[in-house]
This record gives sequence, C-alpha cells and structure tokens, in this order.
Amino acid sequence: MKTVVLKFGGTSVGSIERIKKVANIIGSYKRKKFRVIVVSSAMSGTTNDLINKSKLISNNFDKAEYDTLLASGEQVSCSLIAGRLNHLGYKSRSWMAWQIPILTDGPHSAARIDKINRNQILSFIKTGGVPIITGFQGINLNSRITTLGRGGSDASAIMCAKFFKAQKCIIYTDVDGVYTTDPKVLKKAKKIKVISYEEMLEMASLGAKVMQPTSIQDARLNRINVDVKSSFTNKSGTLITKRKNILSNKTIAGLTSTKNDAKVTLVGVKDKPGVAASVFKPLSQNYINIDMVVQTSSGNKKETDITFTIKSEDLSKTLKLIKQNKKIKYRDLIVNKNVSKVSIIGVGMITTPGVTYRMFQTLAKKGINILVISTSEIKISVLIGKKFVKKAISALHKEFKLD
Ligand code: ADP
Ligand code: ASP
Ligand code: MG
Repeated sequence: MKTVVLKFGGTSVGSIERIKKVANIIGSYKRKKFRVIVVSSAMSGTTNDLINKSKLISNNFDKAEYDTLLASGEQVSCSLIAGRLNHLGYKSRSWMAWQIPILTDGPHSAARIDKINRNQILSFIKTGGVPIITGFQGINLNSRITTLGRGGSDASAIMCAKFFKAQKCIIYTDVDGVYTTDPKVLKKAKKIKVISYEEMLEMASLGAKVMQPTSIQDARLNRINVDVKSSFTNKSGTLITKRKNILSNKTIAGLTSTKNDAKVTLVGVKDKPGVAASVFKPLSQNYINIDMVVQTSSGNKKETDITFTIKSEDLSKTLKLIKQNKKIKYRDLIVNKNVSKVSIIGVGMITTPGVTYRMFQTLAKKGINILVISTSEIKISVLIGKKFVKKAISALHKEFKLD
C-alpha cells in the first residue's frame, strides 16, 4: 500500500467550510487505498494574530515562549480536521509535534527537523487511521516547543515524507502550482509543469512564498518528489523533482521579487583588511541575515563605501548595532527602505550566454536604475526601487519568453 503525505496551508484550512473540503480531499485518498498522513498549517491569519499578541505583551518576548505561543495555531486546525474526518466515518486523530515527538535542533523560530519518532504514527496508520500532524513545529532536547520559521509546515510535510517513506508529498495551497512568477504580481504568469529542486530553491529563497526554502533543501537532500496543487480546484499542479527528470529548453524558469528589503550604506569606511569583517561580525552574532553586499573602492584607496541589504524587520536592530560598534568609523550612514530585489532564475543560464546583458538592457529600456547586483550560477538578482517592481517583472517576463 502506498503512503502519501498531504499538507494543507493556511488558506486551505482558513474556514470551517474549507476544512470540510479538506476532509473530503483526504477521504478521496483513503478511498483510493492510500495510507495517508496529513500535515496542516494554522488557519490563515492565526499565526500573524499570535505574533501581534506577543508584541502587545512585550517587545522582548521570550524566544521559547514565542514558539510555544505560535505553535498553538496548528493545534486548532488539526483537531478540526480530525473531528471532521471522524464525523465522516474515518478513523483519525490529531498529533501535536511534541506528542510524536518531532525532534528539532537549531535556534527558536528557525529550528530544523532532525528526527521523527515513527512508532505511534505507524501503529495508528496500520489500524487504518489518518494521523493529522501539526506542521511548523517540534521540540528540542530541553523539551521546549520550537518552530521552523514562517511557512515551516512545508518542511514538516517533507520531513514526514522522508521518515514515513512516502511515495508522494503533496502540498495543497491556494494556487494550483508554482508559476513563472507570483500570479498576484503578474496576471500573465504561467504555471510551471515541472521544476528542478535547484531552481525551486532559488525561487523560494528569492521571494516565491509558495514553498519555504528549507523545505526544498530537505526535499532535494532526500530526493523526495513534491507536488504543489490547489485545494480549491482539481487541476494538475507542479512537480518539483531532480534535474534529470526534466526535459525543458527554457533559459529562465521563473522570476521573483521581494517585498521587505532594506539597503544600508556605510559611507567612507577605512579601506584596509578586516573592516568588512568588523562591520558584519556583530550582525551575524545577532542572527541578522545579510543578503547582497557591495564594496566600492574610492579613487584614493583610503576610503570605501560598504552597501548591504537586510530584511526590513531587522533594520532598527542593525542600525543600533552599527552605531554601537566601536571598531568601525564611517562618515555617513544611509538607509533606503523602498527597495526590492528582482531575480531571474534558471539552470538554462549556465549554457546560454548573454542572459545578464538581456536582463540589464531590458531594465534600462524601462528607465529602471539598478542599485546592487548579485549572481550565482543559476540566478541574477538586482536591487531596484520598490515602485518599479511590477514594471520590471512584466518586462523581464516578456523578454525571457515566459508570457
Ligand atoms: P500556504 O498558506 O498554502 O502555505 P502561501 O501563502 O505560503 O500558502 O503560498 C502561496 C502563495 O504564494 C500564493 O498565494 C502566491 O501569491 C504566492 N507566490 C509567490 N510566488 C509564487 C509563484 N512563483 N508561484 C505560485 N505562487 C507564488
Ligand atoms: N502557520 C505558520 C505560518 O503562518 C506555518 C505555515 O503556514 O506553514 O508561518
Ligand atoms: Mg506557505
């Protein structure tokens, strides 16, 4: 008998009506004789609501308590799904991750699943039951509840597929697959039938919220095929799989943009070894993720400007750390919150010359100024003014024949 992991996202379980539909989807797999394991997110809006509550209590809410609070959202949706399945005559029960347990390591709010104890779940499945497991969470060695970062139920589902040796992992969401770019940003976006782990990982890391980046890393490491589908329609979705399985001739698979980046420039820092390290050391010690970095050398070789980007939510902490940092001197500190990173992603660019030129030329023709550039083997990212994002995405989508 084949095992399938079904993951439902926040919108898919966003109301009682939606939860009833989800129970019907689960029932359809049971009728096809699958062994089913379900992973669910919290009802949409719940996690944000809990975050806001923590902020009203304290602006320095304890990290472990924060995870305990946030993990509670999934308990509600999972028990409602199990309750509905019971109502329909299926054997089902909910499991909070700590009851299984799902063991994690790493810091609170960014933990990673290390191991899932299989005993209870396997015995329940053997009796025909459908376990409904809370996504997004686990426990650590101190028996404290941890969470896996926003969107982390995707990672829970993929790790369940690994530990329970599922033949399929299906991510049910509110779009019917992975698109060439966010369909909410560009109506002309097209559904991608099949995409490689590498391209999906870049897209997710660069702003395609449809999958959480760490979940794709886990899928890639464990060679788990992932289907992304809509819980609202019955259309075929997107398969995320290894490159070998893909016969596509597109240079660019997709485009992404980010919503909440900020750019910081330190003007006139000393141009000598160790300065950049002194700037970034306290930031890394405080878990602030640095994204793009450029250092421009001045003509006289005595001074340089260092520009980097971070998430806007880390901006005030970053500025505080820079101002407190006695090891660096600078003439000015410039901040720009109205920036966005636009990226093109595709394994095809490895073998196709001229992609960088085409991207820059397309933006230039639209009068869009590039502030920072970063590249890897399979992606090119540019930082531009936030107000140009739609224009840039639309022009690049056309240029790379994705329309
Ligand atoms: P869930 O709650 O099911 O986990 P998310 O909100 O996390 O769903 O992800 C789905 C959303 O991701 C879509 O509504 C869509 O707007 C957004 N998205 C961003 N980029 C893409 C893309 N390239 N393809 C599909 N959806 C995307
Ligand atoms: N409920 C969590 C969040 O909103 C996890 C998830 O949806 O995957 O981030
Ligand atoms: Mg999600």
